[in-house]
Amino acid sequence: MKRMKLAVHSFFASLQGEGCFIGVPTAFLRLAQCNLSCEWCDAYEAATGSVAEMLSPKETAQRLAGYGVRDLCITGGEPLLQEEPLAEMLSLLPTDRRITIETNGSLPIARLRARFPALFFSVDWKTPSSGEEDSFDTDNLLSLGERGWLKFVVANESDLDFVASCVFRAAHYDIEVFVSPVFEKGPAWFSTVAAFVLRMSTTFPFRFQLQLHKVLGIP
Ligand code: SF4
Repeated sequence: MKRMKLAVHSFFASLQGEGCFIGVPTAFLRLAQCNLSCEWCDAYEAATGSVAEMLSPKETAQRLAGYGVRDLCITGGEPLLQEEPLAEMLSLLPTDRRITIETNGSLPIARLRARFPALFFSVDWKTPSSGEEDSFDTDNLLSLGERGWLKFVVANESDLDFVASCVFRAAHYDIEVFVSPVFEKGPAWFSTVAAFVLRMSTTFPFRFQLQLHKVLGIP
């Protein structure tokens, strides 16, 4: 049987900049290619298919584990586009690592969730300003569980209205939800989003999130 390879954009080590493990030293694998085209994409090179290397799952697992840190994050691009070799790579990683998959929310996470119950998932729910607001696969709400969270990236008031209108579905499944202002919009917008999170807190316990890696100017 022909072994599939992974289209890899890059490996790097940094602090986790988002989600439940924010601030934790983490080794990242950024996979190439994406099925969406968000207005404010901050991984444009990877999303548009810039491939540095085609690596076997074994080589990829060795490179990622080789950083020697507990936390590993697979991001993109959209990692689930390469689900088959990705699953093989995951099965080769040391069992003592805490692994998070960052996905854009448009593809089902159910198969990986079933095969690797210990995985964490950070799942985007794209807002109108992204231009991809219809992309979210709502079946993912059933698969997230305690080892997963949703992220809304917001760029304007229409996005905040969108979050307020659809977040009840996450509440139904008791899912953790992060609201993250587009970093490039600056501090005045951060304050507006923070006020929204506070205002909504009696309805739903959102978490405000500022992308830590951008604050620090690190990858
Ligand atoms: S889903 Fe992520 S990687 Fe893909 S275009 Fe949107 S922001 Fe970029």
